[in-house]
Amino acid sequence: MKLDRFLLLVGISVGVLLATFATLAAAGPEVDVGGIPLGQEVLPKAPPGSYLTPEDQAKLDKGGEKYQFEAEVNRMMKLIINSLYKTKEIFLRELISNASDALDKIRFKSLQDKTALGENTDLKITIVADKEGKTLTLTDTGVGMTKADLKTNLGTIAKSGTADFISTMEHQKNGSNLIGQFGVGFYSAFLVADRVTVISKNNADKQYIWESTSESDFRIIEDPRGNTLGRGTQIVLHLKDEALEYISEKKLRELVKHYSEFINFPIYLWSERTETEQVPIEEEEAADDMDDTVEDVTEKKDDSKPKFKEVSKHIAEWELINNQKPIWTRRPSTIQEEEYNDFYKAFAKDTEAPLAHNHFRAEGEVEFQSIIFIPKRPSPAFLQSGDDWTHNLKLFVRRVFITDELPGFLPRWLSFLKGLVDSDEIPLNVSRETLQQHAILKVIKKKVIAKAIDMMKSLASKDTEKYLEFFTNYGNAIKLGIIEDASVKKKLVPLLRFRSSHDGNYTSLEDYYSRMRKGQPQIYFITGQNLEEFMGSPFVERLIARGYEVLYFLDPIDEYLSNALVDYKYKKLQHVGKAGLKYGDEDEKSADKIKEQEEEFQPLKDYLKERLSKWVDTVKISHQLTTSPCAVLSSEYGVSGTMERILQAQALGNKEDFRTAMYLNMKKVFEINPDHPLIIQMLAKVKAGKSADLDDSIYVLFESTAIASGFAVRNATEFAKKVENVVRQKLGVDLDKVANVEVAPAPAVEDAKEKDAGKEDDIETSEEGEKIEEVDDGHDEL
Ligand code: ADP
Ligand code: MG
Repeated sequence: MKLDRFLLLVGISVGVLLATFATLAAAGPEVDVGGIPLGQEVLPKAPPGSYLTPEDQAKLDKGGEKYQFEAEVNRMMKLIINSLYKTKEIFLRELISNASDALDKIRFKSLQDKTALGENTDLKITIVADKEGKTLTLTDTGVGMTKADLKTNLGTIAKSGTADFISTMEHQKNGSNLIGQFGVGFYSAFLVADRVTVISKNNADKQYIWESTSESDFRIIEDPRGNTLGRGTQIVLHLKDEALEYISEKKLRELVKHYSEFINFPIYLWSERTETEQVPIEEEEAADDMDDTVEDVTEKKDDSKPKFKEVSKHIAEWELINNQKPIWTRRPSTIQEEEYNDFYKAFAKDTEAPLAHNHFRAEGEVEFQSIIFIPKRPSPAFLQSGDDWTHNLKLFVRRVFITDELPGFLPRWLSFLKGLVDSDEIPLNVSRETLQQHAILKVIKKKVIAKAIDMMKSLASKDTEKYLEFFTNYGNAIKLGIIEDASVKKKLVPLLRFRSSHDGNYTSLEDYYSRMRKGQPQIYFITGQNLEEFMGSPFVERLIARGYEVLYFLDPIDEYLSNALVDYKYKKLQHVGKAGLKYGDEDEKSADKIKEQEEEFQPLKDYLKERLSKWVDTVKISHQLTTSPCAVLSSEYGVSGTMERILQAQALGNKEDFRTAMYLNMKKVFEINPDHPLIIQMLAKVKAGKSADLDDSIYVLFESTAIASGFAVRNATEFAKKVENVVRQKLGVDLDKVANVEVAPAPAVEDAKEKDAGKEDDIETSEEGEKIEEVDDGHDEL
């Protein structure tokens, strides 16, 4: 109960601030006021310049311990400075975001340990620009850093994958555009400052100062002034000459509005200005009663003989420069698209507006509010190992950020989703681990997933172009959902899109279904890597010639998908390269004719089966092939050519995996076209007992057909040899005639002395070099 009351207090902290001041104001404030008046008791009056005196600074320059930055930090700093010089201003976004994180942390701590806040209950960020000292000072009352924290947090890069990220960026020409999209963090301070001083006080340690003036090292010293902060962190930026624009209050106000509007803590800017005011001369003394003054001025006007004097007033005050009413608590109908976009960018630290959002309030079992977004682009590590998406969903309780560490909350297939959930009903007196298992969270999870699917569905129905953009970026996620998550499979299948032979464009299964031919029993698809591969495929040829539509499964994941899908509206999904294909009008060729051909070709079938027994277990007469002489298929339970290649690549390091080995060694189905002249001729040769002539041809035909059907070459050397044999036969060259070359044996093993002497001999070989040049010249003239 007490905890609840505390939260309520924090939630209305601004209200508290104002109320506190109202009391102070009534007692007679000393500070000059205007705008939002805040007394010295609430916020300290900004001291001039750097918060360090010259003496303190001198101590710092001499004393303390010196440390080297980690090599990665060094590279990161160089990268930031070289690629972001045009958008220096993002340093403010980064520093404010760090302050906000630190405030979140102490607030979360205080939920479990009431003493954590101590006397410093005021959670806020302040910014002071000192024109004379050319410094910008940001202070937060967040969790602060201990000496050890300063050393690791501001001297190393802890985030996994950062090193990879840095090297990719370093080698990419246009990487500079990309890097701005990532949180570049604390080190962006060096974009605008050549000296950065960080003063920090954590509850667990004394107050320390960290300072760096170069890319290579930093110092840490115990603050000689003792604890001046109470708790939190103060960052003093000694601005470079080319960054002096950031000393302007107007500029700072603009930047906060642009980048940090949705920070959930008040951001105050110390603002100083001189204003001139007209003060009525005679009534001056009575002016302490506000109401009376107003009346008096009106009276003067009536007299039309006002007597005023100009008074210039120096106004210095803390000005609240962000609006923190959380957007998700407002009604969707009152929020502009632009506001959602701005909120998303600030919230997800993205530079691009999202593709779609869904803002909803759930009622019933559990009440909560939520906004979820689909980012325009997936993160670079999307669906790869090492992609950490557990922080994509932030959990709030009564407007207060609680945690974004909810591993397993979003399933892997939804790892691209970003957003937040705010509920009054989540218990706070449990640990994070228990929280995850909590029934309420499970209900929320289910709802969020359903709403995410709704969002995709509505995108698909409203805006085809945008949906295709979504699908090209996130199609694999939908497919993964179908494969891994039976509970959402049915809802995700309608969201699938495939390229199709219908018009080469994307189609849904529903549209395919509506175009199916009369009696067509199956949905045909083929897997492969590119469209050209499909065009030349013997499997597709006949189907398309007859007006059937074939879906092109182009992603490696599609193979797995086809296994998980099985059917759509009771129509089996049939790989056209696997046994089991049916047209639904198989009686096209008369049964007599088929029977006749089966008998006629039996000798060839037997012969082929014997010759190819290593790779083939069935040879069949096919009545579906047209222009191709033959086709190689996987057995109905085997894997297609594409899958075989995937497995082969995966198995490289792991040949022992018996299942992979089994699939890779699975024998194929070899189909022959009885109406094709090549096959007819082969039959004639077999019947005439001249089958020996055929052996190389059979092998070449089988292997090349297998390649065209998407399978990998079994034995490249053997294949090449057999092709050579066939070419020899064609050109009438004897099989056993070898090339007329003398193979000179290499000289005997050289002894060490000769080896050294040999080095000087190199020059003499120039004669040979000239010879080569002559030959080259001849080529050029041709
Ligand atoms: P990130 O914020 O992504 O972790 P940064 O480079 O921005 O990376 O910051 C590095 C770390 O330094 C933070 O994770 C945090 O631990 C610490 N830090 C930075 N600024 C502050 C601050 N104002 N208060 C407390 N800790 C901070
Ligand atoms: Mg940061």
